[in-house]
Amino acid sequence: MLSRANKIFSAVPGRTLAAVFVSTRAKHVLPALAYDYGALEPHISAEIMELHHSKHHATYVNNLNVAEEKYAEAQERGDFTAALALQPVLKFNGGGHINHTIFWNNLSPDGGGEPQGELMEAIKRDFGSFDQMKEKLNAASVGVQGSGWGWLGYCKNRQGLQVVTCANQDPLEATTGLVPLFGIDVWEHAYYLQYKNVRPDYVKSIYNVANWDDVSERYLQAIGKA
Ligand code: MN
Repeated sequence: MLSRANKIFSAVPGRTLAAVFVSTRAKHVLPALAYDYGALEPHISAEIMELHHSKHHATYVNNLNVAEEKYAEAQERGDFTAALALQPVLKFNGGGHINHTIFWNNLSPDGGGEPQGELMEAIKRDFGSFDQMKEKLNAASVGVQGSGWGWLGYCKNRQGLQVVTCANQDPLEATTGLVPLFGIDVWEHAYYLQYKNVRPDYVKSIYNVANWDDVSERYLQAIGKA
């Protein structure tokens, strides 16, 4: 992409590389799921999965692309105020895109069970046991007021795991510096059609489809071992 931007740059004298690079940036795309919409049943219904992926996540992606285009235009014409005004929109839709992309991979029809290897050792070290980690993550996720996410994250400074929550679609790493490992979407759109108002039951059932292989990979990458 850099070479493409450079080529356009050299062909358009008088424009800055940054402006051209931004305006030729590839659009974000809705990632395909690695499994069918119905594959996580009975724990998450096909109806929820289809709406959640093809409508909610798709909307974040579309709105992110529109906002990025407007942001690049504002920068190009030197309109700092307009660029600043777009930042909450970028954070919301960019966060929505990042969060859901992680979420789909955190889940699997072959999921469940317990984490293995170094991730499990770290969970025991930092929480006492897998059950204690789950208790902490569940309490935090259930306690999110309004819409948001519960996260198991990795703090590179402390070199340890941490349970935290984010409001709305605030992306974990950009907001807290923690590397996201396992996220629980507690927006009502993630569970209401099936679990109604009983968020604790949805949060508990997530573990039946939790993809600990994916979470382990993220952990090993975060500690520099993958
Ligand atoms: Mn969601």
